[in-house]
Amino acid sequence: MINTYYEVLGKAYSALYQFIKLYDISTKEYSYHDFFTFQTEQNQIEVLTHHFRNNSVSGLFINNKEGISISYEKSHPTTRQNFTKCHELGHFMLKHSGGYFTENNVNNNELEDLKEIEANFYSAFILMPDIVLLQKIGYENKTFNSVMFELEVSQEALHNKLMDTLQYKCNLNRKLALNIVMNYRKGNNHAILKYLSLIKENIISEYYQIQYSPEEKLLKLMKEKNFISNFDMKELNDDEFKQQIKNKFNHIGAWGYYDKGKSISYAFDKNKLADKQALQKAKTILILKH
Ligand SMILES: [Zn+2]
Repeated sequence: MINTYYEVLGKAYSALYQFIKLYDISTKEYSYHDFFTFQTEQNQIEVLTHHFRNNSVSGLFINNKEGISISYEKSHPTTRQNFTKCHELGHFMLKHSGGYFTENNVNNNELEDLKEIEANFYSAFILMPDIVLLQKIGYENKTFNSVMFELEVSQEALHNKLMDTLQYKCNLNRKLALNIVMNYRKGNNHAILKYLSLIKENIISEYYQIQYSPEEKLLKLMKEKNFISNFDMKELNDDEFKQQIKNKFNHIGAWGYYDKGKSISYAFDKNKLADKQALQKAKTILILKH
C-alpha cells in the first residue's frame, strides 16, 4: 500500500503544487476549489449533481465519446460532496482506464479495487495537502475541528488523512498512529506536533521540488491578457522558447523586435490581436521602457 500511496502522492502534488505556485496561492488560505475548477475547466469536464433513491450513489465519473463528466449526490453533506468530487477528479487525473466509475454507499471491501483506493488517496491529497496541514497544525497549532472546518472535510476524511501520514510518512504502526490521532481529536496536539516536526523537512522539500515550466507560466499570463513581453516573463528572450511556443500553439504568435540597439520579445493571442497591432504594442512598450 505504501507504494500506491507514494505513487499517487507524486502525481497529485506535481500538478497541485505547480498550480499553487503559479497562481501564488497562500498555504494559509488554501481551499481545493481553485484547483478543482481549474482542472475541470482546462480538461472540459462537466460537473453535475444527481439524486438517487436512498442517496445510494455518492459519485459518478463518466468518460466516453460524449465527453467527460463528474457528478455527485445532491443531498449529501458538503464535506462528503467535496471528497466525492476530488475522488472523481482523481479517476481522471490518474488516467484510470474504463469508461465510468460509480461510488456506492455500501462498501464492499473485497470489491474495492486498486483504482478506488488510488482515487481516495488522490482526493485526500487535494483536499488536505501536506504543506497546508503542516501550516495549520504544525505552525498555527489549529485544533482538529478547525482544520476540518477550514478545509471543508469530514471528521472521517481528516482522521484518515492523518492516519495515512503517520503510517506512511512516519512509519508508525496503526495502533500508535491511532493513538496520536485520537489524542489530537481530544485537543492534545503534543504527539502529532512531534511527528510532524520529524517529517517537516520532507514535506517542505516535496513542495520546493515542484516547479512550473515557462510554458505554463506563459499560458497563464496569456489567459489574463492577450499580449505579454519579456518584461512580464524574461524567458521570452530565449529564441528557442519562442519557436517552441509557436510550433506548439497555433493561436500564439511570438516575436522579437529590434530598433537602434533596443530590443523587446513578445507573445500574443492571434485570435485577439493582429500581427500589426501586436507589433505596435511592442514598439510602444519599447519606447516607454527605455
Ligand atoms: Zn471511484
